[in-house]
Amino acid sequence: MSTGDMPNRPVFRRVAIVGLGLIGGSLALAIREHGLAGTVVGTDRRDDETLWARDHGVIDEMAFSAADAVKEADLVVVAVPVRATRDVLEAVRPALSDHAVLTDVGSTKGSFIQAVQAVFGEWPERVIPGHPIAGSEKSGIRAAHGDLFDRHKIILTPPDSVAPEALDQLTRLWEGCGARVLTMSVDRHDEVLAATSHLPHLIAFSLVDTLAGEDDNLDIFRYAAGGFRDFTRIAASDPIMWHDIFLSNREAVLNMIDHFTADLGQLRQAIESQDGERLLQVFSRARAAREHFSKMLSGQAYVNTEQQNQVTFRLQPGGAAQGDIRVPGDKSMSHRSIMLGALAEGTTEVTGFLEGEDSLATLQAFRDMGVTIEGPDQGFVRIHGVGLHGLQPPHGPLYLGNSGTAMRLFAGLLAGQRFDTELTGDASLSRRPMNRVADPLRQMGAVIETGEGGKPPLRLRGGQTLTGFHYDMPVASAQVKSCLLLAGLYANGDTSVAEPAPTRDHTERMLNGFGYPVTRDGNTARLSGGGRLTGGPIDVPSDISSAAFFLVAASVAPGADLRLQHVGINPTRTGVITILREMGADITLENEREIGGEPVADLRVRYAPLRGIRIPEDQVPLAIDEFPVLFIAAACAEGTTLLTGAEELRVKESDRIQVMADGLAAIGVDSTVTDDGIEIPGGQALRGGTVDSHGDHRVAMAFAVASLRAEGEITITDCANVATSFPGFDRLAQEVGIRLTVEACE
Ligand code: NAP
Repeated sequence: MSTGDMPNRPVFRRVAIVGLGLIGGSLALAIREHGLAGTVVGTDRRDDETLWARDHGVIDEMAFSAADAVKEADLVVVAVPVRATRDVLEAVRPALSDHAVLTDVGSTKGSFIQAVQAVFGEWPERVIPGHPIAGSEKSGIRAAHGDLFDRHKIILTPPDSVAPEALDQLTRLWEGCGARVLTMSVDRHDEVLAATSHLPHLIAFSLVDTLAGEDDNLDIFRYAAGGFRDFTRIAASDPIMWHDIFLSNREAVLNMIDHFTADLGQLRQAIESQDGERLLQVFSRARAAREHFSKMLSGQAYVNTEQQNQVTFRLQPGGAAQGDIRVPGDKSMSHRSIMLGALAEGTTEVTGFLEGEDSLATLQAFRDMGVTIEGPDQGFVRIHGVGLHGLQPPHGPLYLGNSGTAMRLFAGLLAGQRFDTELTGDASLSRRPMNRVADPLRQMGAVIETGEGGKPPLRLRGGQTLTGFHYDMPVASAQVKSCLLLAGLYANGDTSVAEPAPTRDHTERMLNGFGYPVTRDGNTARLSGGGRLTGGPIDVPSDISSAAFFLVAASVAPGADLRLQHVGINPTRTGVITILREMGADITLENEREIGGEPVADLRVRYAPLRGIRIPEDQVPLAIDEFPVLFIAAACAEGTTLLTGAEELRVKESDRIQVMADGLAAIGVDSTVTDDGIEIPGGQALRGGTVDSHGDHRVAMAFAVASLRAEGEITITDCANVATSFPGFDRLAQEVGIRLTVEACE
């Protein structure tokens, strides 16, 4: 029991429960245990059961007829099988007081309302149907327990004319039992339950019955594996109750059976014609949908950044940086490969895919719009593109987890579709501003509603005609630029976006890679609507931000010689190479080529003594994520390194400059933090010590690199997030010779 320790004030004076089975008995116990009523009186069809309930403390008082039980009660709960409801209502009606609230717990709601109307001639304002989404295969009072509803949902389906204080009281009663109360219409309830509860029970009953009818049934059941037992657990439920439910929710259940039978027929057909591709599509879509629903229902991000485990990195001094490695794929390109692959004609096979928040959220959203996507499996994804106009209306809102990038890009992409869409996300995404994309999209003719204060959810009205326009971005943003260019695919005429400072241009490049021309003229990117995208293979280049740790590692470790394969060297991202070269690093680009519109090369890095420099301010935005590890390079250099114009670093995952300065101090390196940067005198000894990364993955990895020049052991705490941004960092670090061990505890 969760709330049982907290005494409640009674919500009702006298509660009468008619039907002391599993649900009625459990509710009586919960109400008593939580002190939610002055008195609980109960009655059952069988007197011996009523007596048992009184003797075992389930109820305070007993009655031997429904009419006796409800006299003077201010809440009456009908807890009998749904088809017995009408008789019970007939019996209680003459004794029911005018101010009593009447509710039930039946699994179907349309039938309850029919019974109410038959008995009362109307739907009184104090009759509020209810259905706890809690229970078990066992029935009867002996299976009842007071915490059955704890942390479960209860659906109430009140009439439009409901008496507000009655609804409020009933809500408080259920909440007092630990349940979460939802309200919906009677029809919606019956449809939803037909799909999520009634159909699965029907299938379970039917499957067990089919197998039980086989000649060798004993053998079949003897060898039944765990899967069969799990799947058919609900076939142990009470036959009478379920017979009632199917007959009471006839229409909604028939619809679901027809729908399911048609889908099952298609699977049968696929097996008969040996259509493995079709089977794979259905199974992978189903598996992904199941994972998606669990995330969505708990309002979670796709990637868990708040890992439960405490992870500590321990690094021994010395170590080496030697070998030939490939670091994980670029996040932005992985994300865009899904988007453009889905909108392309033909199949797009992606390798080196990084499963980040943005790409996983986007992948699911396209599945919801009818695109078949296989994987991800070890970095491989196959997208069966539907073309720019082939998306299907989703059945509900598109849930984008924690991904702001996905929400802004989808706003552009969906503004020009023929159907309506709604974009939602987890609690933190729901606080992020969306007007910076909604406003310019409206100028193109999009109809978009936002939540309060320009925040999600975003509702996009379909069937609008978009017109291309020119937009001067007030603040440089790759997301806004990408959003408008994607809307431009669906607009009449040209769409162009000018940026006040260079931002990442992965969207433009990848559009070109998919055969959709985007031109650049100075600071302006431009495209014309009405073209088409063509799918093809994409080997996602390694992320230069991840490669940066190894670029610095090999630059500072005497004797190092390291090759990093297939790294993306998009000029909007290569600030780290420019800065390191200016410090004297020996980095050469080999085997330069183009993948999906992006320049790629193998990077060879050899040890070279570094010198301190004043970092050119124009390089700062091009290396913004790489500064933590560049500070380590600065600490290992001769002479002072000065960083200015990097205010943004103070508001990243942590105040990166301060956290890095504290970490440097912890291993014996002095530095001076300024408002917009830092000054690091080089040539100091890195003594070793304990560094708190404050959960910032880049800080953690940067200090792992520092161990190559440290005199003593370095311990780095709070490193769990490394696994999300750079899966396999520990393994690769060990492979090149960094002396890292990982300690995890619950
Ligand atoms: P249960 O344990 O079998 O209890 C049903 C109770 O109703 C028993 O006390 C039974 O009396 C009484 N009853 C049966 N037929 C009656 C009739 N014709 N007239 C008067 N009383 C009658 O069933 P339950 O699981 O508590 O289910 C009760 C209601 O809750 C049902 O409407 C069901 O749809 C709903 N519900 C059940 C679950 C679940 O998982 N079990 C979950 C949510 C909602 P006896 O003592 O004579 O049998």
